[in-house]
Amino acid sequence: MAASKKTPAGTAAPGSAGKPAKPDKPAKPVKSAKPAKPAKEESRTALVRRARRINRILAETYPYAHPELDYDNPFQLLVATVLSAQTTDLRVNQTTPALFAKYPTPEDLAAANPEEVEEILRPCGFFRAKTKSVMGLSKALVEEFGGEVPGRLEDLVKLPGVGRKTAFVVLGNAFGRPGITVDTHFQRLVRRWKWTDATDPDKIEAAVGALFPKSDWTMLSHHVIWHGRRICHARKPACGACPVAPLCPAYGEGETDPEKAKKLLKYEKGGFPGQRLRPPQAYLDAGGRPAPPLGAG
Ligand code: SF4
Repeated sequence: MAASKKTPAGTAAPGSAGKPAKPDKPAKPVKSAKPAKPAKEESRTALVRRARRINRILAETYPYAHPELDYDNPFQLLVATVLSAQTTDLRVNQTTPALFAKYPTPEDLAAANPEEVEEILRPCGFFRAKTKSVMGLSKALVEEFGGEVPGRLEDLVKLPGVGRKTAFVVLGNAFGRPGITVDTHFQRLVRRWKWTDATDPDKIEAAVGALFPKSDWTMLSHHVIWHGRRICHARKPACGACPVAPLCPAYGEGETDPEKAKKLLKYEKGGFPGQRLRPPQAYLDAGGRPAPPLGAG
């Protein structure tokens, strides 16, 4: 798709690096907001530069970006990520406290009564299949990895219910190994930005990975996913309140009126609670609010 001819008006500036923007206040307007050049005219070097500029702006916009699942160790992150299929991170975060209180280790969960686990996981949806997955992967951890979550991609993807996406979430966030998480938001945004035309997640991962140094991959994934959840929504992106509008070929696909766009913002950008019941301190320091427990809102 060629770049929109519309000029992004009233686009929001990111917070300055090291100084987290107050998340519930609208960002300031950018003065020189011009539409990005059509992707077909863009050289490889220009694409790399534009992609990295977008990531820098997102890093300033979401300096507190983090995985939106609550976890205390690699086992909890692995289980929470598997549970997050087809539901929100919020719902998983509201469900896992009871699960991990009763079954804190892979040994405990592997030996659990499936009906009791199903009852706990009911709010996550697909609770029978998810019970099977988390009990199956706990069993595999006990039998094949001494009850520890392995830190290698090739081992993780052998666990029942664990694909590359889940494996990279665990590797990137629990083991500090760079990984790109290609979820639905990531796929949508990188195509809007013309970083790649690929539709297959593995091809997207390879194409986007080639635009950035490996050390950026994990935080890049958070930035893109956070932007997709807060501003660049699937149906109605808030283009008029978007800090990367001047670099976006898809500007104008959503609401361009700054006041109307502001009303579309979600979580801390819209002044609402986030998805984690126990968010990192940096998020709270920047004015973010914890999510309510199950049944409280
Ligand atoms: S909201 Fe999305 S589509 Fe709109 S300008 Fe921002 S990144 Fe582009």
